[in-house]
Amino acid sequence: MTAPFAPRDDASQHQPQEWISLDVSFVSPPPPDVRCRHRVVRRRFDDADLDPDAVKVLRRLGQHGYQAFLVGGCVRDLLLGRKPKDFDIVTSALPGENRHLFRNCRLIGRRFRLAHMLFSGGKIIEVATFRRGATDEDRLQDRHASENLFGGPADDAVRRDFPMNALMYDVVRGEIHDYVGGLEDIERRRLSTIGDPERRLPEDPVRVLRAAKFAVLCDLEIDPALRASMARHAPLITTCAPARLVEELLKILRTGQAGPCLHNLHQVGLLEHLLPKVDGLLRQGRPWQEALSSLAAFDERLKAGLPTSEVLMLCALLEPFVAPLLEEEGDLPALLGQAIDEATAPMRFTKRHLAAVRQVWALQRRLATGPASRRSRKLREREGFEEALALFELRATPEQHSALRAWQRMLYHREAQPAGETAEAPRPRRRRSKKRVEPKPEESGAPRI
Ligand code: ATP
Ligand code: MG
Repeated sequence: MTAPFAPRDDASQHQPQEWISLDVSFVSPPPPDVRCRHRVVRRRFDDADLDPDAVKVLRRLGQHGYQAFLVGGCVRDLLLGRKPKDFDIVTSALPGENRHLFRNCRLIGRRFRLAHMLFSGGKIIEVATFRRGATDEDRLQDRHASENLFGGPADDAVRRDFPMNALMYDVVRGEIHDYVGGLEDIERRRLSTIGDPERRLPEDPVRVLRAAKFAVLCDLEIDPALRASMARHAPLITTCAPARLVEELLKILRTGQAGPCLHNLHQVGLLEHLLPKVDGLLRQGRPWQEALSSLAAFDERLKAGLPTSEVLMLCALLEPFVAPLLEEEGDLPALLGQAIDEATAPMRFTKRHLAAVRQVWALQRRLATGPASRRSRKLREREGFEEALALFELRATPEQHSALRAWQRMLYHREAQPAGETAEAPRPRRRRSKKRVEPKPEESGAPRI
């Protein structure tokens, strides 16, 4: 498993820039629909574009004789001139060997055993061992259910979703290893599946969602065979684990291009299964900018590097369903709860996310009246207040601008306070009167919604 892989000097002047080997070695035979050849291209990315901690991990693995590459989204993004979100590593070192080698290593997952390297500031570099598919022998020995079957780089590459996501980068040698045509896809700005989409999409329908997302984010043309297959297999998305779908959707909301991605999900026929209510808005023929205008505004904030949370993006997505309720009489938190549940079904966002979204929307009515009383100061301590204010800033009418500025002054005043000091001078303690006044729902400390 741990074939020695002595790091060698990259200074060789005589090496060709690119070479191809048709003889690719596998531990498990690749699926019959996958065409493989090993193309290696010499290419050195700028150190400044790489994560120094990931480079340290890669070098250390190499020094101990393991193969180790950057893999997946980061290599794709570096080649496309995009800033990678995170730097994942794939290696021949087994999970236990990683733990042995790195003091900052934690092993996670039972189904997928992965190593997490922990660095300062909460940074995590994920290190996976090359995976492979099950062989007949594994199946005979009932090992096929295990996801922890380890192989070599080619085995690992063919198990990934799209060729561009299966590229591996060797930082020591400055080489890109391509087993399934990822470089060609990137050169042609094309999105295809590894192997036949008619087999690969039903195998894991989340790939339909990922294809629709990457086509927008990476500005790629979807291969016609993949496009036809996506339309055919879109309904299978309902068979996927709800938690995976939520995770993928939240990732889309964080991209800074949530609006265009959702529009593409609508066009490929996925959104009607994921968020039928949102899909209904787009079906009415309204352009997405209009239907989801707050989402577009928050996308701009993300692109400008301003902090925007998943909760805020969800609030923006749901605006068309919940904003009209702010004008209605009645129990606002209950109305909001019902509308949010209906608009997000059948996606199963966590209770924590949904409660936070309700909280942010419920605070909108209170924010519109401005910070008038002492209780207002307490409001700003409430969880979700800053997110509520960000949403209010986005939606404030000209008449509400003075209220907005007053809240902002109050918030920034608090932030300017040195640690340990409170914004208000301490007030003398008053004896509690016998008659307690119940706080209004919007002003109580605990989330009431
Ligand atoms: P992002 O920039 O959104 O993180 P990414 O390609 O890194 O893009 P991840 O979800 O982090 O996406 O997945 C990491 C890698 O795991 C992918 O690049 C791909 O190689 C592989 N992968 C992820 N999802 C699947 C899937 N459903 N089927 C096969 N391989 C997958
Ligand atoms: Mg990633």
